[in-house]
Amino acid sequence: MKLATKIIIGLILGAIVGLILNITAPDLFKQLDTFLFTPLGKIFLNLINMLVVPIVFFSITLGVAGLGDPKKLGRIGVKTVTFFLGTTALAIVIGLVLALTIQPGNFGEFDTSSAEYEAKEAPSVAETLLNMIPTNPVKAFADGNMLQIIVFSIFVGLGITFLGKKASALLRFVEQGNDLMMYLVNLVMKFAPYGTFGLIAAAVGSQGLDALKAMGLYMGVVILALVIHAVVTYGSAIFFLAKQSPVAFFKNFSPAMAVAFSTSSSNATLPVSMETAQKRLKVPEPISSFVQPLGATINMDGTAIMQGVATIFIAQVYGIDLTITQMITVVLTAVLASIGTAGVPGVGLILLAMVLNSVGLPVAGIALIIGIDRLLDMARTAVNITGDAACAVIVAETEKKHGEYKIPEIDEKMV
Ligand code: ASP
Repeated sequence: MKLATKIIIGLILGAIVGLILNITAPDLFKQLDTFLFTPLGKIFLNLINMLVVPIVFFSITLGVAGLGDPKKLGRIGVKTVTFFLGTTALAIVIGLVLALTIQPGNFGEFDTSSAEYEAKEAPSVAETLLNMIPTNPVKAFADGNMLQIIVFSIFVGLGITFLGKKASALLRFVEQGNDLMMYLVNLVMKFAPYGTFGLIAAAVGSQGLDALKAMGLYMGVVILALVIHAVVTYGSAIFFLAKQSPVAFFKNFSPAMAVAFSTSSSNATLPVSMETAQKRLKVPEPISSFVQPLGATINMDGTAIMQGVATIFIAQVYGIDLTITQMITVVLTAVLASIGTAGVPGVGLILLAMVLNSVGLPVAGIALIIGIDRLLDMARTAVNITGDAACAVIVAETEKKHGEYKIPEIDEKMV
């Protein structure tokens, strides 16, 4: 059986087992969770997280050296960032429009009297942009600061390009490092079906089903918006801009989506999503290794959708009408806020606090949605990484006319 199929089976089995235990035997669930589900999930999460930082470093360095020309890097960078910002803005608009039409906050009883939420401090956009340059790359690596690692790797890649033959040993080192990482991803992925099973069983089994019922309409709107964005926005972008079949795209990328779904972390899924894009979607390595790590940090369309829906939901529950100007502020804040925050579980709520603040809505409203956010986090993370892959496919297609992307030949005599 193919690994991709096994992962999907692990995901479905995990959901079924989690749900059955949740309804029929909550005590048994707790025991199994402690000894089986959570450990299985944790082993898998740790294994893939172990690879994220070295993969980002090796692949971006190699990717930039592989482009061989800073102009190409600039061109790809502009295309990528334009796609990211454009699709994110569209995603929030879809969320806003659906929430305004279906009005999830106007149906049902929501108790706001005891709602409290302590918002964590999120860095401002200016701060994030300034902090992109690491003063200490070792610290950036140790902290797993994705934007800083990306910037450092771009510098190293450019340096290797300009030094040419003088740096051929380094180039070879980076190339072999990258091969090694990809090999390890393959190895670690053998555990993915079990890890996915454990993560999903733990997540579904621990949900309060009453909370689900109360928040059903809100969840429905978020999921509908996620599906519309994935199918319509990415589907048509793949079809019109990359001239490829959207069905084949989703089919080939589905194993990575399943891993994102179970881990709720774009960062942790990075090794798998890059491998899937390169092997199954045939995105050249230099393009995938530039676009996808960047996307894991700055492109979160699924998260943006949740923010659009949640803002309107909270406004409706508190009986506040938002003006058009406020909605435009929501779109802008959400797009900018997503740039500096890493793709890790639950980060969407921190961004939401920023968005609510920007239009003066009560941040305490987040307390209403926090209970079911874990489940939505899974779905939106899958959409987040799909947006990155769609961008990689489109950039790869539009770059075809500029020639092949190959890692430069190693000069054996110099090594
Ligand atoms: N978990 C999401 C991600 O990693 C971010 C979020 O929406 O909380 O992409």
